[in-house]
Amino acid sequence: KQLLEIQELIQKDKDHLWHAMSRYNEKATPLIGMRGEGGWFFDVNGDKFFDGVSGLWCLNLGHGRKEIAQAAYEQMVNLSYFPLTLSHIPAIQLSAKISELLQGSYTTFFSNSGSEANETAFKIARQYHIQNGHPGKYKFISRYRAYHGSTLGALSATAQANRRIKYDPAVPGFLHVPPPYSYRSPFGEHVPDSDLLAADYIDQVINWEGSETVAGVILEPFISGGGVIIPSKEYLKRVAEICKKHDVLLIVDEVVSGFGRTGEMFGFMHSEGVQPDIVTMAKGLTSGYLPLGATAVRSEIYEKFKENGKQDHLRHISTFGGHPASCAVALKNIEIIENEGIVDRVSRLGESILLELRELESLDKVGEVRGVGFLFGIELVEDKKLKTPASEECMVNVIAACKKKGLIIGRNGDTVPGLNNVLIIAPPLSSTEEDLRFMVQVIKSVLREGC
Ligand code: PMP
Repeated sequence: KQLLEIQELIQKDKDHLWHAMSRYNEKATPLIGMRGEGGWFFDVNGDKFFDGVSGLWCLNLGHGRKEIAQAAYEQMVNLSYFPLTLSHIPAIQLSAKISELLQGSYTTFFSNSGSEANETAFKIARQYHIQNGHPGKYKFISRYRAYHGSTLGALSATAQANRRIKYDPAVPGFLHVPPPYSYRSPFGEHVPDSDLLAADYIDQVINWEGSETVAGVILEPFISGGGVIIPSKEYLKRVAEICKKHDVLLIVDEVVSGFGRTGEMFGFMHSEGVQPDIVTMAKGLTSGYLPLGATAVRSEIYEKFKENGKQDHLRHISTFGGHPASCAVALKNIEIIENEGIVDRVSRLGESILLELRELESLDKVGEVRGVGFLFGIELVEDKKLKTPASEECMVNVIAACKKKGLIIGRNGDTVPGLNNVLIIAPPLSSTEEDLRFMVQVIKSVLREGC
């Protein structure tokens, strides 16, 4: 692009485009993406970057997959739009495929985003308990540090102070419990199995609230945006048992962890024997090529919506939810993930990247390196013993230094005031080994330089 053209674009951006999450900054120039190739993209200046966060952890197969674009094109010229008050073939096939992938019998309601998938889950859960003869069960439990979306219901489940502070009061009925965060355990330093204590805390809260008032627990198998928090496999098993005991639905948010990100098709699959009542998906469902959200519900739950052979329907609709082109894209995306053995690859390569990144724990600034599959978090500290979080300046410098070397990485957003000190790395699942080596080498060299 010509310099003048670029300047004009930047001016229009400043005047008219409202960016997500960022503060307005007169001096900063926006990074304007122009073209992508696999895990890389070029901005308007022609500078090249490796996308170490897959967009917003969604571009799992990278840019430019012609098969996916072709699937969207063919669907768009064939049946451009069709509502799911009726039915269409890509949605039917995708719902059946999701059920197969979840290794159970599931019925899926389609929407457009992760937030909407979670909103849908809350409505289904509340209505399910009514249909099941327990109309008093309306409360939801989620964990501090969790992110579940930006719409008011999903935001109410999002227990991150800074994201909420200007928009509260939240929707009534949302409760929060400690996360299974062993590095900064709310149950004290060096307490063994602190993640299981966090699970048991959910049991206590349900008892205190009265189980006849609690509809569901919503959680990510691994907290992603809230700082990459990786509990033991036992944690989710324990939570699932607790939910079952209290007739509380287990809602697993697989918006980030679904479709291979963690080295299993779904994150919950790391915990053997866990079969969630509801699974929500978005992002990786289409690898970000088109918007799509999905709320998959165990068929036994769906059955409760049929009374006297008649379905007492869910009073919920989304015009574009389950758009034919989005469903066609999702089907193609899943086909590629399966055919290319992406999930096993992520599991295998993810382990070796984690080992390499763990070497950084010898540095004074690195408190802990955590990861599963292609989801990594590096918690930076000022003082290793005291675990004082790294300063804002340090975080900004590290991210800027990576960018200067051609690598985009992220950080936990507005988790807790003063605790936004986790670098987040989540490269496309299809990244080449060379790209991954580049990514690791840049992170290592930047952190070794200090901040
Ligand atoms: N759940 C999780 C775990 C997420 O990370 C996100 C998005 N970052 C959402 C839900 C919301 O998804 P969306 O932005 O598509 O509404």
